[in-house]
Amino acid sequence: MSTATIIDGKAVAADIRAELAARVATIKRERSMPPGLAVILVGQDPASQVYVRSKERQAQEAGFKSVAYRRPDDISEEQLITLIEGLNEDPSINGILVQLPLPKHIDEAVVIHAISPEKDVDGFHPINVGRMIAGEHSLLPCTPLGCITLLKRTLGDLSGKTAVVVGRSNIVGKPMAALLLRENCTVTMAHSRTVDLPGVCRGADILVAAVGKPKFIQGDWIKPGATVIDVGINRVDDGDGKSHLVGDVDFAAALDVAGAITPVPGGVGPMTIAMLLRNTLESFCRANRVDCAGL
Ligand code: NDP
Repeated sequence: MSTATIIDGKAVAADIRAELAARVATIKRERSMPPGLAVILVGQDPASQVYVRSKERQAQEAGFKSVAYRRPDDISEEQLITLIEGLNEDPSINGILVQLPLPKHIDEAVVIHAISPEKDVDGFHPINVGRMIAGEHSLLPCTPLGCITLLKRTLGDLSGKTAVVVGRSNIVGKPMAALLLRENCTVTMAHSRTVDLPGVCRGADILVAAVGKPKFIQGDWIKPGATVIDVGINRVDDGDGKSHLVGDVDFAAALDVAGAITPVPGGVGPMTIAMLLRNTLESFCRANRVDCAGL
């Protein structure tokens, strides 16, 4: 028997994009210059191409200036940094995103450090990471920010809840834990060396899965009534030349136990791009002294 509420990230993301589009329309009427997002794509990775096209399209639909810089995979690190430095100086660009992963000959850390922290709409620059950990204002990483937004819309106040984050990557798991802590959750970070992972997960009021393994979290690892956020995006071969996406949670089994759960696709994924646009608008507002209250 299915009991869990399905958290419709696609619908929430559409609402947020509509709110952002309304704010951008007002800005364009009053100032003529829209917020600008630059996305840099290096090489031909098919998944990255799809992500960049969606970011470009959704930014344009919401009224942003959106520019994609597509570069061959033999671009040098120096050339890439020169491109970023030019965008750092460009007043019509408020957000700079470098689509990861980059080719092996380019050091991702060096590239991320080259982005101005004020335009780092992915929230990966160490200055923004440090500010986030210190509880200061900063641009926050899009996927964890999208997860927190869904959690707050589902549960309201998160204070005092026990949260378990499975996965400790710099782009999802670690910032997710930091943001849950900021919301006054009691947070456990689990990873590949965690002892008794099923038992750790069973203690969670909020369970966030960011592992990258299809259907890894089993139904009987979930506390009855828990809220489950499935960050995983895994492409699974159907064997007949077709494939489909699944998350890190066994969704069918979780439906019987959880109180609420995000589907894959249609859960966290759409929120990530909505948060990217939100961050770009916030960066614009700060640069141009426009009120961004309520963003
Ligand atoms: P990483 O591969 O960087 O990190 C995976 C984490 O999972 C690691 O910390 C690893 O632990 C942990 N892990 C691996 N195996 C186990 C195990 N057996 N038990 C417990 N923990 C384990 O992945 P990302 O964080 O980049 O991505 C995670 C998932 O989220 C992927 O499916 C990715 O596609 C998806 N994703 C979705 C986004 C969205 O917009 N919805 C955005 C970004 C990612 P250890 O550190 O010990 O190795």
